[in-house]
Amino acid sequence: IDPVEGYPKVGEHFGLEERPFNLEAAKVDEEHPLLLRNIYTSIDPYIRNRMRNPKHKSYLPPLDLGQVIPNLTIAEVVKSAVPEYKTGSHVIFMSGWEEYTFVPKDAMKVVQVISNPYNLPLMTFVGALGMPSQTAYVGLKHVGKPKAGETIYISAASGAVGQVAGQLAKSMGLYVVGSAGSDEKIAYLKEIGYDAVFNYKNESVHDALPRLCPKGIDIYFDNVGGETLDAVLLNVNFYARIIFCGAISQYNNPNPYRLKNYTEIVLKSITIEGFIVMNLIPLYQEEYFREMPKLIAEGKLKYKYDVYKGLGSIPEGLLGVLQGKNFGKALAKIADE
Ligand code: NDP
Repeated sequence: IDPVEGYPKVGEHFGLEERPFNLEAAKVDEEHPLLLRNIYTSIDPYIRNRMRNPKHKSYLPPLDLGQVIPNLTIAEVVKSAVPEYKTGSHVIFMSGWEEYTFVPKDAMKVVQVISNPYNLPLMTFVGALGMPSQTAYVGLKHVGKPKAGETIYISAASGAVGQVAGQLAKSMGLYVVGSAGSDEKIAYLKEIGYDAVFNYKNESVHDALPRLCPKGIDIYFDNVGGETLDAVLLNVNFYARIIFCGAISQYNNPNPYRLKNYTEIVLKSITIEGFIVMNLIPLYQEEYFREMPKLIAEGKLKYKYDVYKGLGSIPEGLLGVLQGKNFGKALAKIADE
C-alpha cells in the first residue's frame, strides 16, 4: 500500500512535535561531534518521492514513519567537538525540518563549511547556489551539451531549476523557450531573458511548441514529464537531446501518464538521459563554485525566492511546490540568522 495516495495532506501526513531541549546543557561528544542551529532549509519536490511505499526502488531510501524529514539546510555551528568546525561558522547539511540537529559522527564527512568570498546572503547557499541550481548547471551543461544557436525548451521554467537553466542557456547563445503555469510567472521569464514563453494553462503545449519553436527543438530540459514530454517528442529535431531532470506532473498521479509518441525516439534518433544531481555534481563541483557565485554576485544571474516562515509552514510549502503555488525557489526560514 502506498502510504500517501495522490497529494500529501498537511494535517494527515505531517506532524509537528515539540520536545524539551536545553541548549546550555546540550553536549557534543565523539558520537555527535556537532550541534547545529538550522536557519534556512530547502523545500524540494523529491521529498514526495521519499514518502513512498518501501517496495519501490529509488535513489534515496523511503522515509520511516515518524522520521524527521531531512533536507539540505544552512545552519550555524552552536557547539563543536571538532576544531575544523568553529562555533559561529555556517555549514550546509541534511539537517531537516527541526530547529536543532546533532550531527552523528558517521555523517561528519558531508558537513560542508561554506566558503563565501562574495559575501552572499546566507539563503543563497540553499537557494541560488543550492541543489536545484546545481541540477540546472550539470543538467544543461554536461547532460544537454548545448551549442550556440540551438533551440532549447524548458518546462516549469520559473521554478528553482528552470529559472537557472534558462538564464544559463541564454548566456550560452541558445534560443530559449519556456513554459509556466501563471501570467505572473510568464512575466518573470521575460524579465530574466527567455526569448519565447507560454502559459501552458492557457495554451496547449501541442499548439504552443510549433508556434514558438519554428526551427524545432534541439534540447528539451524536462522538469514535468507526462503529456508535455509527449508533445515535445513531436516537435524535436533529429538528434535532439532530452535532459530528463524530473516529472513533477506525475509525482502525485496514481495513474501515471503513458507516452504515446515514443516511436519518435527512434525515428529522430533522440537521446533521453536521466540524471541525479548528487551523482554528477561531485565531478563538476570545482567549476560550479568557480563560476556561479561570481555570476550571482555580479547580478548576472537573477533568482526568485518563495520563502515560508517557521517550521510549521514547511508542509504547506512542499504542497505548494507540488501544486505549482510556489513562485521561485521554495525554502523555509526556521530561525533568524
Ligand atoms: P519548482 O521550483 O520548479 O517547483 C515545481 C513547479 O513545477 C511548480 O511551481 C509548477 O510550476 C510545476 N508543476 C507542478 N505541478 C505540475 C504539473 N502537474 N504539470 C506541470 N508543471 C507542474 O521545482 P524544482 O525546480 O525544485 O524542481 C523542478 C523539477 O526538477 C522537478 O521535477 C524535480 O523533481 C526535478 N529535480 C531533479 C533533480 C535531479 O537530480 N534530477 C534535482 C532537483 C530537482 P508551474 O506553475 O509553472 O506549473
